[in-house]
Parts: sequence; structure tokens; C-alpha cells
Amino acid sequence: MNNPRFNKFIEGMTALLDKTSDEEIVLAEGRTLLQELVAHDDWLDDAYAQPHPEYYQQYRLHVCPQGRFSVVSFVWGPGQKTPVHDHTVWGLIGMLRGSETALRFSVPEAGKTMEVLGEDRLEPGDVDAVSPTIGDVHQVANAYDDQVSISIHVYGADIGKVERHVFNTENGAAKAFISGYANA
Ligand code: FE
Repeated sequence: MNNPRFNKFIEGMTALLDKTSDEEIVLAEGRTLLQELVAHDDWLDDAYAQPHPEYYQQYRLHVCPQGRFSVVSFVWGPGQKTPVHDHTVWGLIGMLRGSETALRFSVPEAGKTMEVLGEDRLEPGDVDAVSPTIGDVHQVANAYDDQVSISIHVYGADIGKVERHVFNTENGAAKAFISGYANA
């Protein structure tokens, strides 16, 4: 990706992480930067906006050379959704196009049914956050069953290398996974 809006966002995130690694500050100031980025839907290359008929797609847009953060376009085909999963690092989700819904879950405990804490809906321009500190387990879905939706995700690591987990909501059982990138 090489676009003035996107480059400005990467410069802002880089300056922020040069200044601090305090998660609270990173999430607060990163939220403002991501809000500016997703306030306009005129910068994402079509190559990173392509849905797949079966699977939601995660395109790598940027990985910090020091591995401190990564940026992904998350492209939902109609009706697609994730399993219940965690991230293990901080994450910011900015809605660019369409809409998505997220079910938030309690921290999984082996042998226990997982509790739904609430549901959020993101519309274009909205930003949400996750992390092990503020709540890290959710299930996300395209809010539409007849159109593509796209959100921009920022994570506090190279998310294509992070081992994280999917969960069985009936018994809290965890299974490790690495999400990777559609354009790796
Ligand atoms: Fe997620």
C-alpha cells in the first residue's frame, strides 16, 4: 500500500510506538489515528479489497520493520464470520466499508460454558479495541448477507506470526492457530 492517507497513518503509528509502549496510551492515540484513516473510503487498493467466496480474507497492508505492529484489511464476503477467537496482543478495528457485528465473550475457563458479554455493531468510521487487558475474546461477522464489508485491523505485533486461539463456547476448550495473510 502506498497512498498519502495510509502513509500518514503508518507514520503516526510509528511515531506513537517510538514514544511509548504503554497499552492504554497506544489504544487511545491509535484509536484517533485509525478513526482518521477510516473516515474516508478512498484509499484502499482494490487488490486488498477482494472477497473470497468461502473464506473471509486478511490482506497484509503493513508490518512494522521491528514487528511492533501490523495492519490488515479484513474483507468479509456476504454472511461470513469468524470462529470465537482471541488475539493475545492489543488490537484496533476500524470499519471502512459496510458493517460488522462482534459478540464479546468472557475469559474462557476449561469445562465451563462461555458467557456472552454483549454485542457491538461497527458502522463506517467506527473504531473498536481488543486486548487481554480490556477484553480479548470475540466472534465477528459481516452484518450483511448480501454485500462485502471491510474493516482495517491494527495489532500490536506481526499478527501473521502470532499463535493465538479459537474456542469452543460450550466447554471453553482452546485450540491454537496462526491466522497468516491471504497475500503472504
Ligand atoms: Fe478478532
